[in-house]
Amino acid sequence: MDPVEKKPLFHFLPGTPVLSFGTAGCNLGCKFCQNADISHSREMDTLADSASPELIAKTAKTLQCRSVAFTYNEPAIFHEYAVETATACRKLGIKTVAVTAGYVCAEPRKEFYAWMDAANVDLKGFTEEFYKKYTDSSLQPVLDTLIYIKKETSTWLEITTLLIPGLNDSDKELQALTSWIVKNLGQDVPLHFTAFHPAYKILDLPPTPISTLRKAREIALANGIRYCYTGNAEDPEGETTFCHSCRKKLIGRNWYELTEWNLKDGKCKFCGTACAGFFEPAAGNWGSKRLPVRLSDFA
Ligand code: SF4
Repeated sequence: MDPVEKKPLFHFLPGTPVLSFGTAGCNLGCKFCQNADISHSREMDTLADSASPELIAKTAKTLQCRSVAFTYNEPAIFHEYAVETATACRKLGIKTVAVTAGYVCAEPRKEFYAWMDAANVDLKGFTEEFYKKYTDSSLQPVLDTLIYIKKETSTWLEITTLLIPGLNDSDKELQALTSWIVKNLGQDVPLHFTAFHPAYKILDLPPTPISTLRKAREIALANGIRYCYTGNAEDPEGETTFCHSCRKKLIGRNWYELTEWNLKDGKCKFCGTACAGFFEPAAGNWGSKRLPVRLSDFA
């Protein structure tokens, strides 16, 4: 169980717990993978707990989670299992969340997102060179997925870009990435810039400095993105949701904990402007709690 903020989703049922699970393997080969033990695992037995779709949905309900997240590795590679789990969740009123690289063909994309209530899609960089060299995949299918989710589905969409020093964090690339989002997806899709920490095959670069995250956020805001966040780093302003109209604080956060709530019926309580997203009247504060769950305990 995680706070939904950890996915990260900041505009989808903030302050609620999500039951998170994944399998093993991935259809990308990111050299900076932060979950390499899972995504590159061939050792299924060391990782696996058995869980039917119905058991996952039932467990989420019993634990009072509002949603189930397909995460840790790429859900496209367990498409059928994810869709069956989403079907079981929907029967019990549990929402579904995909945390994905968005690298998927058009046909499965259509079926998959028909079952997802929210998605956080990694946009790992903004050049084909970067995608090819560092992820073993390509950029264009990811852009196609972003446009598909935004224009053809009711799935709530947020985007995450992990900034890696010297590889995908130039002003030019950030200008291009954020301008593309505004032009093709509009101003209301939240964008998270998160800090890289040396991992897997990229151990010789330093962690992303906070100054880079802040610079990226400023570029995004200047280009018209209304909700832009910094993550994996201590940055109170960068983790706050501000009203895009009056600029007052709508949701305060301290890492995954909500510290302030100034929304009423999804609108700014100061000026009445709607904040994009899905909000419950009385958001909880599930905060920084994180519980490991053995599904076999619920069978
Ligand atoms: S898409 Fe995610 S899980 Fe897969 S290799 Fe890349 S970083 Fe790792």
